[in-house]
Amino acid sequence: MANFVSRRRWLKGLAFTASAAALSPLLLRRAARATAVTHKVSPASVQYRIVMGPNHGKHCGMCRYFIPGRAQGMGGMCLGGTCQLVAGPISPMGYCMLFKPRT
Ligand code: SF4
Repeated sequence: MANFVSRRRWLKGLAFTASAAALSPLLLRRAARATAVTHKVSPASVQYRIVMGPNHGKHCGMCRYFIPGRAQGMGGMCLGGTCQLVAGPISPMGYCMLFKPRT
């Protein structure tokens, strides 16, 4: 039996793969937003903790999901805030497995 794939079928597969690859970042972003609105994860499930050292610049205050508290300046840094993905009050000096740097 010949192992033959027609050119048309191969091009269809290529087009499907390319469109799926192009859409996946958009879908992931939407899923993250939907998760943020409806289902936040527990801090323990993502190993959230306060980091006492520099941690290579990886802390909630530098994360794209961090929402600062209302106070401005140093007061805001001390009061902390919330997170789009993780439930509860979040310190700007915290860190978890979902960290993503701001762009
Ligand atoms: S590091 Fe984790 S807890 Fe902190 S803001 Fe980012 S996602 Fe939220």
